[in-house]
Parts: sequence; structure tokens; C-alpha cells
Amino acid sequence: MVGGGPLGMEVASGCVQAGCEVTLVSDVQPLSRQLGDHLSGMFTSAAVRRGLRVVSGGKARLIDFDEGAGSAAGTRIALADGTVLEADLIVTAIGDEPNIGWLAGSKLLVDGSLRVDTRGRLRPEIVAAGDVAFFPTSRGVQRVPLWTSAIDQAKVAAVGLLQGDAAPELNFQPYFWTEGFGLSLKSVGFTPVAGAPDYCEPGKDPESVLLRWENDDGSGTAAAVNYRIPIPKLRRLADVGPGHSVRQRR
Ligand SMILES: Cc1cc2nc3c(=O)[nH]c(=O)nc-3n(C[C@H](O)[C@H](O)[C@H](O)COP(=O)(O)OP(=O)(O)OC[C@H]3O[C@@H](n4cnc5c(N)ncnc54)[C@H](O)[C@@H]3O)c2cc1C
Repeated sequence: MVGGGPLGMEVASGCVQAGCEVTLVSDVQPLSRQLGDHLSGMFTSAAVRRGLRVVSGGKARLIDFDEGAGSAAGTRIALADGTVLEADLIVTAIGDEPNIGWLAGSKLLVDGSLRVDTRGRLRPEIVAAGDVAFFPTSRGVQRVPLWTSAIDQAKVAAVGLLQGDAAPELNFQPYFWTEGFGLSLKSVGFTPVAGAPDYCEPGKDPESVLLRWENDDGSGTAAAVNYRIPIPKLRRLADVGPGHSVRQRR
């Protein structure tokens, strides 16, 4: 498996569960770019405990025919540090790129990207929403290629198109989930999160925990790992911190 993002880890987890011998290649600790070191550490430890082999060694490159791979072409990769790995099957998930080629020359792109305002607008009569759009967030202008992000943006853009400046602005709070290696994560708020959580409440089993980070921008991020909690309650934990409904145990 080349790529240690959520998709790479989910594919790796499914393959390990199916009894395959799996090596995952990632230039950084798996999931650290998306979630930060703390949550990434939890998932990576769980993965290694369940039999995943994690290899760093820098960016991966497919070894092709020109390099004398012969019949092994397509089943070997080289890492930046010189490590060569061979597999029966190579799967890769190393990120996505917005499909904006068809807009080239339209004058809608700024530095090669679609940048909408807080109401999803490129122009008063043209809106964009979803994975393709960069939009203003408390962490700067960025794409957030997630399901709920696409849905929230689309609703705001539709009203923006109809009502113009009278339309409500996007008030975006990311929601993300992933499952793998026996862990189920649901998180609300921006990730990656920095450092250790400010709040930690253990659940019923050793791998179950409810966490919260107070972010530098003043926002909160809450994460439930193998912890049953309704999403509105998780949103509330992210927004205002632990209240009477969520006990605090520092
Ligand atoms: C394997 C995978 C797993 C994922 N898992 C999760 C998850 O667990 N949780 C989560 O929140 N998000 C997940 N995502 C991300 C989520 O699917 C996307 O954020 C979401 O689908 C974005 O919606 P969208 O409408 O912007 O784009 P899309 O769903 O990609 O829809 C875009 C549509 O536009 C079409 N299209 C593209 N170019 C053109 C063109 N020029 N003309 C006409 N049509 C065109 C495409 O064919 C497609 O039908 C996952 C993504 C992938 C790939």
C-alpha cells in the first residue's frame, strides 16, 4: 500500500483483516498529515499490533521496464532512501487533485485554483462547491475534500446564488470519520491537531477514548475513538468544551 492517508490505511486494514501480508509505505507517520501526531500514533500503533508493516524511507516511485525490472515491472517500488520493495499487488492512494482542466481559459481560476467567497461565489452568477473549491476557513483559504464539507458548501452556494450578499455565510465545522485496525474515529473541528489533547475521557474498553483539543485559533476539535457519542454531542464538545453532559477527567 503506497500512501498513509485515511484511504491507504482503510485499504490496508481491510487487507490485513482478509489475511494478507501488508506493507504500507508512507513518507510520514500514517494519518499524521490529516489528524496530527497524537491520533496518528493511536492508529499506527493499533495497525502495527494487528500485523501491518509500516515503512518510511521517503517518497515512493514505481520501478518500470526501463530500469530492467523485466517481468517484475509494476510490482516493485523504490523509496527515496534506496529501499526497494516487491509485492504481488501494489495499491496507491496518495491524494486527490481537483478536476479543473475543463475550466482552463475560463478566467475563473486564480493561480490555477477555484477560490470561492464565504457564500460559495466565484462571481455573483457563478458558484462552486465541494472538493473542487477552495474557501475561506479559520485556518485560511483551503479545500476540505470531505462529504459533509461538500454538502454544507453546496447549501450555502445555492442560497448565495439566489440571495447574493443577503445570504448567510458558510459557518464551517469539519466532520470526519474513519475506521481501521479495530479503531473507529469520529472527529469534529479542524485537523490536524497539534500535540496532546487538553481533555481525555476514557471509555469502556482500553482503546476507547473521548478527546478534545483547544486549537491556537480559538476553535476546538473533539475526537471519539471507539467511543459511542451522538454527533450533536461531539459537536458541542468541540464547540464549548466539556460541560455537565461530558464529565471532565484531566
Ligand atoms: C475512496 C474514497 C473514500 C472517501 N471516504 C470518505 C469518507 O469516509 N468520509 C468523507 O467525509 N469523505 C470521504 N471521501 C471524500 C468524499 O467522497 C468527497 O469529499 C465528496 O464526494 C465530494 O463531493 P463532490 O460533489 O465535491 O465531488 P464528487 O463526489 O467527486 O462528484 C463530482 C462529480 O462531478 C463529475 N465531474 C467531474 N468533472 C466533470 C466535468 N468536467 N463535467 C461533468 N461532470 C464532471 C464527476 O464524475 C463526479 O460525478 C472519500 C473519497 C474517496 C475517493
